[in-house]
Amino acid sequence: MRKVIYHPKYKEYDLGPQHPFSPVRVKMVLELLDSLGIPFNPVQPELISADRLKEIHEPDYVDIVEAVSNGEAAKDIGQYGLGTGDNPVVRGMAEGARWQCAGSLLGAQLLINGQAESVLQMGGGFHHARRGLAAGFCLYNDLALAVKTMTDHGWHVAYLDLDVHHGDGVQEIYYTSDKVMTISLHESGEYIFPGTGWLHELGQGMGRSLKLNLPLEPYTEGDSYLESLRKITEPALAWFRPNALVVQAGADAHFSDPLADIMLTTQNYQKIFSYIFSLVEKYCYNRVLITLGGGYSFFATARIWTLLYLMQQRYEIPAELPGSWLNRWRKIIGTDAGNNFHDREKAYRKIPRKGDIERVNQAMAIRLLDAVAGDWL
Ligand SMILES: [Zn+2]
Repeated sequence: MRKVIYHPKYKEYDLGPQHPFSPVRVKMVLELLDSLGIPFNPVQPELISADRLKEIHEPDYVDIVEAVSNGEAAKDIGQYGLGTGDNPVVRGMAEGARWQCAGSLLGAQLLINGQAESVLQMGGGFHHARRGLAAGFCLYNDLALAVKTMTDHGWHVAYLDLDVHHGDGVQEIYYTSDKVMTISLHESGEYIFPGTGWLHELGQGMGRSLKLNLPLEPYTEGDSYLESLRKITEPALAWFRPNALVVQAGADAHFSDPLADIMLTTQNYQKIFSYIFSLVEKYCYNRVLITLGGGYSFFATARIWTLLYLMQQRYEIPAELPGSWLNRWRKIIGTDAGNNFHDREKAYRKIPRKGDIERVNQAMAIRLLDAVAGDWL
């Protein structure tokens, strides 16, 4: 069974008209599906309480987030990462975040109860939220909550982070756990937020060699990305054999993303998603929960998440975008985008030093596997 989760209340996680983490992105996806005549019948979660978040976050952090979100004055919010450009204080944001966490939690429950094998949560993916700190547009860590629901059930869980930024929050929360393997492919922290996700961050104690990070070179193209992904995930999942895979499917590794420099095309994303579905079948008992995440080129992100929906629900990928949808979003899309669903062939100019970039990525993947080999015996 393949299920989709969504609630209109997700829109309440809105950090303001100038903020990149905008609910417009999912609105574009839903309208695109509608214009294509594709059905969208999600399961709706029920709102969870703030106490539920205390299973993952420090209680005083949750109390502060809820208080400022209700308009109450609070001191020293900066030490919780709040009131910054990335994480401004906006009325109602805590409840909006809880709605999205509720969706990821429901996804975990559907897998545990056997009501679904493949779940696509059309929200969530707040991988930067730390135990006691808001960061990188994230307040509450829905992914960590979903993972905890599964480990409480006795499962081993693998977490794969495709977002172009390091999945630091999920890694931190499970750094010493032997029940959770985290794998993050991201642009190197030397160049972008959050500046972590290095090879040597391998986990601690019982969690040693279960936290895998592959920092990629800026301007990494699709072939090198896929090669790196295969090199790491195949042996990792074959060895760990998780009861389920949780995937954060941020779309900000697209070449047009304004916040990062990885060069994936929508065609590359199609290959990546299809590869992940094959991994799930082979090594993860056919169970997967996928969430959304980052993605700041709205036109690219809308197409990548629509692609993900169509693939997960097994619909055909259309060749063209409907004119009505293009016109409705013309201001965001611009006039020179064309009407193909996928990116143009030769979507961007040739990357200089492509060979060097590929060699560095390849060497990085080999070093990572060497570093964990002793513990994986
Ligand atoms: Zn991101």
